[in-house]
Amino acid sequence: MVIAENIEAVLKKIDEAACKIGKKRDDITLVAVSKMHPVEKILEAKKYGLSIFGESKAQELLQKYEMVPDVKWHFIGHLQRNKVKYIIDKVDLIQSLDSIELAQEIDKRAKKIGKKMPVLIEINIGKEPSKSGIYEEELDEFVKKVSEFENIILSGIMTIPPVTEDKNKTRDYFKRMRFLFETLKQFDLPNSNIKFLSMGMTDDFDIAIEEGANIVRVGTGIFGRRM
Ligand SMILES: *Cc1c(COP(=O)(O)O)cnc(C)c1O
Repeated sequence: MVIAENIEAVLKKIDEAACKIGKKRDDITLVAVSKMHPVEKILEAKKYGLSIFGESKAQELLQKYEMVPDVKWHFIGHLQRNKVKYIIDKVDLIQSLDSIELAQEIDKRAKKIGKKMPVLIEINIGKEPSKSGIYEEELDEFVKKVSEFENIILSGIMTIPPVTEDKNKTRDYFKRMRFLFETLKQFDLPNSNIKFLSMGMTDDFDIAIEEGANIVRVGTGIFGRRM
């Protein structure tokens, strides 16, 4: 029951933030981040209408994939190259492309199964050593290389900003992401369809939406604390 109430609260907050900037709830894709939560909870969230789930470990995704039918999966964590072959046919979006070597492997595996794999580039917007993702200064060059892969559809960018109590700082990171996103859209890139700006988690997804996010990734706010 708690999950139902949580979902309702999250959807309401999405609705309000979207309205503030003249968008609708449907303009925002909610990814329910189910990592480290049991299948029962995912099934419950599915029952209450959620249909896209986010996982950050290949092994965990594979297990849950078998047990939760008829939903979509996004990969949101650091992806090891040797795991790509296991998930390539199971995910709708890889949100965490962070190296050319990984892009190369995704391209190779996608080609093998006749798929064009949509990916987002992860940006380490706060330049934190603990986080994956490329620096914003590297984006132009990185994007040019990624867009050469014919079995990848470069679809946008994603970030996890530094943790801070200061909501204004968080907002500034989101603004910078928005700028990068708009810049990318101007480029005339092959194998690309730049349409997703993925940012905002439980504590800040409303701010992210106000700053232009159209994918938000909410875990704790839906499923409670991870075990
Ligand atoms: C865990 C995780 C989330 C969800 O975080 P919450 O604070 O629980 O909402 C979102 N995005 C990524 C990439 C994550 O790893």
